[in-house]
Amino acid sequence: PTVLTGTDLVRAFGKTPALRGVSCAVRAGEIVAITGPSGSGKSTLLLCLAGVLVPDAGEVNFGGQQISRMSESERSRLRRTDLGVLFQFGQLVPELTVEENVALPLLLGGARRKAALRSASEWLDRFGVADLGERYPGELSGGQQQRAAVARALVTEPRVLFADEPTGALDSLAGEQLLTQLTRVAKENGTAVLIVTHEAQVAAYAQREIALWDGTVADDGLTSAPTAGA
Ligand code: ADP
Ligand code: ADP
Repeated sequence: PTVLTGTDLVRAFGKTPALRGVSCAVRAGEIVAITGPSGSGKSTLLLCLAGVLVPDAGEVNFGGQQISRMSESERSRLRRTDLGVLFQFGQLVPELTVEENVALPLLLGGARRKAALRSASEWLDRFGVADLGERYPGELSGGQQQRAAVARALVTEPRVLFADEPTGALDSLAGEQLLTQLTRVAKENGTAVLIVTHEAQVAAYAQREIALWDGTVADDGLTSAPTAGA
């Protein structure tokens, strides 16, 4: 089933057009790579679909809700619950332990500390870094920090995870490990994952690739990667 659609999205920054009419649909459990040259509109598309940016025209629909017509507070509530957003540098809070960092979205949502920390530790386990929960982010490698950041983005069990160059700061082995773990989670939880990337290695993990060119969709189709359900 389709979880998220963007229809005829248009967005400019001042006089600079970033999206000139982009439509796309994302299915549950699907990993989608958004590719294209620098400046083609990848980040803008991701941010519009995630409800961070509001398009000038067009609509974003998530589960029957028009995200693009919501108020900032409604969109921010959705980002705390159904939509997970992850940026290139995971931005863990240095003063909190890794486990506290992962628990943070649950704590901000009003969960009890003990339950939140338990969920955090389960998610760290799923990303192979359960033993690092008591440490501080500064004591982890880049790859370990990014896995913790992904765990934090997923701890609220969003329906869609949005990631802008999630492996951009990692070496290729750490990047492959992260993508393998993300693929497994997408399959197990039915989470759709949208990844902005310029790396062919990353796109190889996606079942669908949306290639942008100058703010338009140059190509949108299935790749030869195995489906998450296979
Ligand atoms: P990509 O992610 O493919 O590199 P972007 O979506 O970041 O592309 O940018 C698309 C176009 O919009 C570019 O011309 C970029 O300079 C411009 N742009 C993006 N964000 C902003 C912004 N916040 N302010 C001004 N221009 C922006
Ligand atoms: P990416 O590789 O994701 O395209 P960018 O460096 O293009 O990275 O963009 C990083 C951030 O800066 C994004 O939030 C984007 O919206 C913003 N941005 C991109 N281009 C411009 C610009 N010309 N002026 C201001 N902000 C921009």
